Amino acid sequence: MLRTCIGCRSRADKTTLVRLVVVRTPTASVVTPDLDGSLPGRGAHLHPEARCLEQARRRRAFGRAFRQEGPFDTEALDALVAPAT
Ligand SMILES: [Zn+2]
Repeated sequence: MLRTCIGCRSRADKTTLVRLVVVRTPTASVVTPDLDGSLPGRGAHLHPEARCLEQARRRRAFGRAFRQEGPFDTEALDALVAPAT
């Protein structure tokens, strides 16, 4: 099953990507890694790599992928993706 990474835009097998969903709170849209594929809602896929996360952020890919306004809270995703620096 191929999915497009919202960071690097390449297609990859979904097992190599992490599925993301948005959980709305009163203050933010929390980007939540769906590690066991159980969370409902519109999903987006991303390589769990700092490079792809950075590209997604720079391109404002979250808003497009989730069809929602930000701000997006990516703390959980940041923790999952080991920072490059
Ligand atoms: Zn990627």
